[in-house]
Amino acid sequence: MTLSAEPQAISYDFSLPSVDGPTCIASAWAKTPTPLNAAEKSVTKDKIKRLLKAQNAVIVAHYYVDPDIQDLALETGGCVADSLEMAKFGREHPAQTLIVAGVRFMGETSKILSPQKKVLMPDLDATCSLDLGCPSEQFNQFCDAHPDRTVVVYANTSAAVKARADWMVTSSCALAIVYELKKQNKKILWAPDRHLGKYIQEQTGADMILWDGDCIVHNEFKAEELQLLKERYPNAQVLVHPESPASVVSIADVVGSTAAMLKAVVEGTASEYIVATDQGILHRMRQLAPNKTLIEAPTAGQSATCKSCANCPWMAMNGLANLLNCLENGAGAISVEESTRSKAQACIERMLDFTKNHPDLLAKAQHGFVKNIGAA
Ligand code: SF4
Repeated sequence: MTLSAEPQAISYDFSLPSVDGPTCIASAWAKTPTPLNAAEKSVTKDKIKRLLKAQNAVIVAHYYVDPDIQDLALETGGCVADSLEMAKFGREHPAQTLIVAGVRFMGETSKILSPQKKVLMPDLDATCSLDLGCPSEQFNQFCDAHPDRTVVVYANTSAAVKARADWMVTSSCALAIVYELKKQNKKILWAPDRHLGKYIQEQTGADMILWDGDCIVHNEFKAEELQLLKERYPNAQVLVHPESPASVVSIADVVGSTAAMLKAVVEGTASEYIVATDQGILHRMRQLAPNKTLIEAPTAGQSATCKSCANCPWMAMNGLANLLNCLENGAGAISVEESTRSKAQACIERMLDFTKNHPDLLAKAQHGFVKNIGAA
């Protein structure tokens, strides 16, 4: 495929293995692990705890994975976080083995930042539609066509794409970094999430050209149905991740990263929240704000083509049994070829340095990113 000056939509294969009757794609297509019964869970967790200690290993988990893994990570001194905090935690923790429960780009980011550590993932096929939709060869052609632009990529990309970028950003710091680049009169090439890119473009007024990718989970939220839900719960605050379509973002009271949404629920004064992100976050929200009512935003509706049911099929591939397999058999080892790794490291370190050195700018940008935060 030849990519000229403008990005093109890239299709990727979501074909299902044959299944009988109607089914949810989340469990049919993405090798969701067979659920364990209570006794199996208990035995598996005990083994994992023992092996984590014996192997000087720690679990670095994303908010969207199985609640059992989230709880185990916290019980054993690991973390449950968004991708920015996962990257920092993995780099700074003294453990020599990182078990990254999330999707492939998260394991790669950990390996890029900590090449001396062993990085293992429960299932190496757990990927992301944003990563899949931005193949490095086409992305390099896109960059070649715009040599005057600063290349800013979202964390949800392969190591090879990061190796071509000047900056990596996450949804927690994207707005602050693009603000600063704009102040330096930089023109930006952004990839791969078009909704987040458009949102940042509107908020900052930066000169940006956008890759045409999306997240299959957040892209499915529907403005019309969300509006109806809001009418049913008029006092609820609507929390929306900026990977969602602009029509959905426009209804939000709070627009922000997973961590910002969690903060809005925990610190907010409202008693009801409509949450438009992967339902995995609800587990941590319930733990940290047990008295708040959480309502899942609708992905279905008259125009729905629901592929996700607000449940990332790749995040769902992480289970206790395949996590144990990492520790028992060294399965799921992440490797990144050295020349790619060192180039990718530069753009990630740039972001980490920025977030460390400019907490004031992050907080300021968060004001723009999180609408009505005072009321949230
Ligand atoms: S929820 Fe979306 S952005 Fe996150 S891993 Fe899944 S497909 Fe990628």
